Amino acid sequence: MQTDLADFIKGTAEGDKADEILRKCVHCGFCTATCPTYQLLGDELDGPRGRIYLMKQVLEGEAVTERTQSHLDRCLTCRSCETTCPSGVEYGKLLEIGRKVVDERVPRKGMDKVARAALNRVVPDARLFGGLMKVGRLARPVMPRILKDKISPARTRGVWPEARHDRRMAVLEGCVQPTLSPDINAAAARYLDSVGISLVVAPDAGCCGAVGLHNSDHEGALVAARRNVDAWWPLVESGLEAIVMTASGCGVVVADYGDLLASDPEYAERAKRISDMTRDLSSVVAEHLPTAHVSTHTRVAFHPPCTLQHGLKTKGVVEKILRSAGFELTNIRDSHLCCGSAGTYSLLQPEISGQLKKRKLSAILQDSPDVIASANIGCLSHLEPDAGIPVRHWIELLA
Ligand code: SF4
Ligand code: SF4
Repeated sequence: MQTDLADFIKGTAEGDKADEILRKCVHCGFCTATCPTYQLLGDELDGPRGRIYLMKQVLEGEAVTERTQSHLDRCLTCRSCETTCPSGVEYGKLLEIGRKVVDERVPRKGMDKVARAALNRVVPDARLFGGLMKVGRLARPVMPRILKDKISPARTRGVWPEARHDRRMAVLEGCVQPTLSPDINAAAARYLDSVGISLVVAPDAGCCGAVGLHNSDHEGALVAARRNVDAWWPLVESGLEAIVMTASGCGVVVADYGDLLASDPEYAERAKRISDMTRDLSSVVAEHLPTAHVSTHTRVAFHPPCTLQHGLKTKGVVEKILRSAGFELTNIRDSHLCCGSAGTYSLLQPEISGQLKKRKLSAILQDSPDVIASANIGCLSHLEPDAGIPVRHWIELLA
């Protein structure tokens, strides 16, 4: 595709990147067939090819309207289109740049502004989120359905073994996971301890920055990324082997810190090193496959989060781990499609999100699983209220 970027962005790092991406797109439209919002809404501008065209217009200096913004807002950032694209168009990166420019020109108003500000304040702050969730659990009986579904029951954390091995990896606790499902990381620590790896936590590390990136708070995302680099660096210098992600939504962001902070001279080098050391839990466990098979005939439906399959391009690894542990995996129709969680999308775009959840659960439950497993706290907490069967992180089934 030919481009002629406007002066405000031409020659900048973001402009060069956007230009490179846009020029790769040949407008073939293969991506539209695998886009969940295009499938639901049937509008070219709610599919990747249309959104790419809208962003091209914006970057070429055409007027930006609320309509443009709403078509970009409706994108789940699932990146299913990237997996399908034969030309290697990095749609996710282009959207990050496009949304930033659009949000600078079309200020958020009314409830949209309030909702985004509240999410940016509450979600990344693990303590604040945990406190509000406690209050929410008390008030749950009188809440409207949309909020009720977001209030999960309190769960306990199991044993986290003392760090006793020479091999050490850090795990990101993140923002919402310690409150919603505190045993996920402890289960990872128990499993890795059993194969000779100690899992440790950098106390000052927190939200990966995804919330800001998805909610028009690019600066907030950079602050989170810098804080995490600072928090992990002493561990890196003392021989840490890897930084492990148990939520693929965080993993895809931390793996991108090198790019995110590339123009920050103080952080660029360390951020790149952190990105290079970042691994999804499945890639570590795959090197230490379970030797003891489970004795039950539990049928597991593994829902691969978009961030795992389209973002990190890791497909089939968790399935292999679960099979080697003795679980029977059920079939899921259209497993490449998003469940509608997509970070804070389920709160900001409840109708589309709700329809995608309904479709996903129907596809998952068709083959009668006993339990649903996934690899991202967002998908787990989104699917659980309506699943009718247990929903767990895959490491909890193993540990
Ligand atoms: S499949 Fe790739 S090249 Fe074709 S329209 Fe979509 S993004 Fe462009
Ligand atoms: S990221 Fe997902 S929702 Fe957005 S355009 Fe691509 S396929 Fe569609």
